[in-house]
Amino acid sequence: MSNLPLDRLVPGHIRLFEPYYPSPPDQELMRLYRLDHLHRLNNNENALGPPSAVREMIQAIQAGAIPVYPNGDSRDLRHALAKRFDKTSGQFLIGNGSCELISSVVKAFCEGGDNIITADKTFAVYEWVSEFSGLEARLVPLKEYGFDPDAMLAARDERTKIIFVCNPNNPTGTYWDRETLVRFLDIVGGEQIVVLDEAYFEYVAQADYPDGMQLLEAYPNLIVFRTFSKMYALAALRVGLLCASEELVDIVRRTHVAYSVNTLGQQAAVEALRDDGEFIAKTRAMVVRGKQRLSALFSAMGFEYLAGEGNYMMVKTPISDTLLHRKLLRQGLMVRTMTGFRFPNWIRISLVQEPIMEEFCTAFQSVFQKS
Ligand SMILES: *Cc1c(COP(=O)(O)O)cnc(C)c1O
Repeated sequence: MSNLPLDRLVPGHIRLFEPYYPSPPDQELMRLYRLDHLHRLNNNENALGPPSAVREMIQAIQAGAIPVYPNGDSRDLRHALAKRFDKTSGQFLIGNGSCELISSVVKAFCEGGDNIITADKTFAVYEWVSEFSGLEARLVPLKEYGFDPDAMLAARDERTKIIFVCNPNNPTGTYWDRETLVRFLDIVGGEQIVVLDEAYFEYVAQADYPDGMQLLEAYPNLIVFRTFSKMYALAALRVGLLCASEELVDIVRRTHVAYSVNTLGQQAAVEALRDDGEFIAKTRAMVVRGKQRLSALFSAMGFEYLAGEGNYMMVKTPISDTLLHRKLLRQGLMVRTMTGFRFPNWIRISLVQEPIMEEFCTAFQSVFQKS
């Protein structure tokens, strides 16, 4: 114990905040569990790896680029995005993953006494950033596993600054269709900032799934998040983006760390956008097959499961999620425990290549056959 006066130095909301501990590196887990392989099905990554144009670009990167600071505002990437989405480059802000952008948006709009609204069972970073920033996060219960628009609207007061909507929702895979989203935005009427997190946008093939980017002109309080971590398989390079009106981007930019996005990430993201049609189709087909395979298994075993949008599924089993996690890990498969997402005894599984899905099914069944 040091003699630091932490009671005085550390604000109460930080003292109460529980840090998030990421899972240990693969090598360490493989040593601990004596594994010769480990399949990560816990982070919704695209196991196919990045498009080939990205691989080539990474191999060709010049050592001379490394000592030089990256482009401080990701100019080339913003231009590529503007062209792709028919916007201006000033409508984009690039972050070190969209997680960094969540932080920048909260800093830009909230001060002491303000609150944000989101769901109780969704991507936890909205809640965490708000709480360690000393703000109240109002967590509205899901309704039939989906975001509940009316309850979220009712939770607002004059200090509500931001509403975070995860569409489709991680981890339940539910989504608001266009009509639900538009009605919600109409009622909000610009009183709050609405962040629409479309981290899994490229995975959704439903005809009534709304494209947030196309709503920006009609709703100047809307901010759309996308990421290169999920479909584009660039998670290690940390590139996320927000798109909004130039007016809102100018505000958020003030709280955003310049130079936070590295050169490799910026260039890889530009490459990833080139000719991505076939790559997306291939990835979606893999996910559809995984969803069918796991759905069949879980129904045959009589377990409750959710197979919505996104490259992941959830299942509830009669044993604790931490125990199940450990039993699967012993067989080289890492899933996500869901107690931390307020779904006790559920796990979430990323959907990947067929042979790995088969391996998962065998391991999962073996856990429940033993007793
Ligand atoms: C994975 C994920 C993100 C964040 O990804 P970054 O890697 O920080 O870009 C954001 N939102 C949701 C819902 C996610 O699942």
